[in-house]
Amino acid sequence: MSRLLRSPLWIALLIALADVISGFGIGEPFTQAYWNTVYKVWQRPVPRSYLIVNTGNNGGLDAVTASRLLDCINSGNPARVYIDTSLNLGQDQSAKNAVKRSLNKFGSKVVFVKRMANDFSSKIEKSDLNFPIIMNNYRVVASAWSINFAGFAESSPYKIQIGGREIETFAADLGGAHSGRQSLLYPDFSLDPATIQTVAASALLERNDATPQLTGRTVVISDPNPGEMISYFGHGVIHPVALDIAGAEALHRPFAFNLSELAMVAVVFALLYAGHHRARGKTKRIVYLAVPFVLVLLPILLRAIGLLADPTAAMLCAAIFAAIRIWQKRIRRAQLTSVSGLPNIHALSSGDLPNGRDVVVVSIARFDEIMATLPRHLHSEYAHQIARRITVGCGARDIFQSDGGHFAWVEEARPLDMQLSHLEGLRALFSSPLHIGSYVFDSNVHFGLDRNEGVETGVRVNSAMASSNEARNHGRGIELFEAHRLAQAAWELALHANIDDGLRNGDIWLAYQAQWDIATNRICGAEALIRWNHPVRGPIAPHAFILQAERAGRIDALTYWVLDEAVGATLALNAHGDHFQMSINLSGQMVDKPELVNSFTEIVARHGANPRLITIEVTETTTMGNRAIAVNNLTQLRQMGFRLSIDDFGTGEASLAYLADLPSDELKIDRCFVSRIIDSDRERAIVASTIQLAHTLGQTVVAEGIEDAATLAMLRDMGCDLAQGFHLGRPQPLTSFEREYATKRKSQFGLV
Ligand code: C2E
Ligand code: MG
Ligand code: MG
Repeated sequence: MSRLLRSPLWIALLIALADVISGFGIGEPFTQAYWNTVYKVWQRPVPRSYLIVNTGNNGGLDAVTASRLLDCINSGNPARVYIDTSLNLGQDQSAKNAVKRSLNKFGSKVVFVKRMANDFSSKIEKSDLNFPIIMNNYRVVASAWSINFAGFAESSPYKIQIGGREIETFAADLGGAHSGRQSLLYPDFSLDPATIQTVAASALLERNDATPQLTGRTVVISDPNPGEMISYFGHGVIHPVALDIAGAEALHRPFAFNLSELAMVAVVFALLYAGHHRARGKTKRIVYLAVPFVLVLLPILLRAIGLLADPTAAMLCAAIFAAIRIWQKRIRRAQLTSVSGLPNIHALSSGDLPNGRDVVVVSIARFDEIMATLPRHLHSEYAHQIARRITVGCGARDIFQSDGGHFAWVEEARPLDMQLSHLEGLRALFSSPLHIGSYVFDSNVHFGLDRNEGVETGVRVNSAMASSNEARNHGRGIELFEAHRLAQAAWELALHANIDDGLRNGDIWLAYQAQWDIATNRICGAEALIRWNHPVRGPIAPHAFILQAERAGRIDALTYWVLDEAVGATLALNAHGDHFQMSINLSGQMVDKPELVNSFTEIVARHGANPRLITIEVTETTTMGNRAIAVNNLTQLRQMGFRLSIDDFGTGEASLAYLADLPSDELKIDRCFVSRIIDSDRERAIVASTIQLAHTLGQTVVAEGIEDAATLAMLRDMGCDLAQGFHLGRPQPLTSFEREYATKRKSQFGLV
């Protein structure tokens, strides 16, 4: 339901329906204007079978004139005669009798018209003294029109009740149609009231021979009473007899039926639905264009065959839909990426996705590097070329770009194997180099795919993006985001707040693992290792959350906190004046941070600590960004006195290159080599030669992961300097580490 309420189409429909049901009429002014315009343009003459005899006298006809006029008309042998004016018969009985005689000559052809006010109630009869007499002796019809808020006549019943008697309405009687009191008839406003044939009563009387003009016609004896005028669509205020004729003519068509506003709403909604959810590209535009045509033309066409289809609610529905879409598009335009002008990925995240769609994000390898290489004016061209390749490959028109090298779009949800091979095809498109200005770049792309229909769009885009990063990190072409990882994604998104909570509550803490000087068999330092006992998820391995914190860009706060804590611990452990060395780990992602050196300086200065007591362990990882800045940062830190250590040596992607590039003091041989030196000649050879290499370069060598005495003994023989491992001490909280160190120190230094 909440999804429906976010869809512009359903919002528009609900408002339109609410308007119909409540009868509030928000859209009424539209329709008034609409019908008024339609009938200004669409006009046809009133059939010649009607003739108005205009008495020219608002006060009604006196007995003498009435009887002369009636006789004159009767001599013309009309088909029917309607008397739509009052007869002021006076007191002269013989004159009255003359009128009666004249009337009686017509037999059943004469009918009296009673004009009713808008609220046609039975009270009317009391206001007209002649009325009961006429009603009792002649046939009477009533002209009774409902007037809308703008003063236009809209409909008339077929019958009304006067004084307990049902009488036909003028229009129904003229049209010769009979129906119940509940039924309504709707005038045919295409008849131009100005074309009704009219003759002045005085002219008839003068000529005294009206035969040819009247024969076989429907004659209405009428007066030009201005008080009775009513508004008629397309023609302003007119004499109501024109309405009665238009009502009668409407009844001559095959149908005379009101389809209600809902019929038009249904048609327009179906079109908008097709345009919004089903159609694409050109078809979508055609479907949308059809809406105004349908709104304008369909009611006219239906009206031509007698079906009334009021477009008010449909217009309201379309107008609201259009307004919301325009507003959404404006917001989207405001969400363009500044460099390329492509829509920002947030625009996709904040919108709604129709059913049956997959979200795809492509991560462009080395995007930042290429942007850094290109001159500024070509940045947009680069992004556009990527977007064009995507469009060519998959037909998606809307490509969204993140500030970095991610591009997202929406694909029709094909079966998985088809979707994967479709993306493989798209990947192949990127195998040919991109030409931007005079530059040529190879581009490798990695796709992330989200198929979790029904999940919020923002979450889906993030999922696809995370998957594309994962694909890139693992060197894979495509990574599918699996539903069970949504909880993980939510956790990753909340990582910032979680880390802050963990630091505040003490759930995140540092464990210290001793490092031994092999030659002297003494503890000479420790490595600070981060720990997280999450209140809900339990202990989280440092690798797991450090990787996530790196991904989420939240590693800074953690690193500075670790240094702060570790420096405090170093000072405590150095209280006895030993040279106790503390190692901390620096994430590859942090090494090129511009503020790194200042932050480290500020932290040690605040504690008044000597940077020489701190060893910074750096691991070679793919997350390291700008190598030049990284080397510069590390050089500066080293110049300030910090020791530098290359951690996990032998496992990184380019350990030897790293060793050549980085200014370092120490090399830590990774556990995976150390743990096998007893059993494997090869591993033993690797470790021995690494120790030699390090010594040649003037480095201290630390072996980590020593789990038994035999390994320690062998490393001692190989000339390794420092040792770390479970055999020598597990990572532990500061208090117990301090206790153990104090005990060991006394025994080591013979103080017991
Ligand atoms: P690392 O820097 O190589 O740390 C050594 C890891 O080996 C630690 O795992 C330690 O508990 C484990 N270890 C030590 N001796 C032995 C042994 O004899 N046998 C075995 N099986 N394992 C041993 P831990 O604490 O799980 O840390 C894993 C990694 O997480 C660390 O590897 C380091 O890369 C990273 N890490 C830990 N704390 C931090 C931190 O504060 N910041 C950063 N950026 N990374 C950290
Ligand atoms: Mg380490
Ligand atoms: Mg290590």
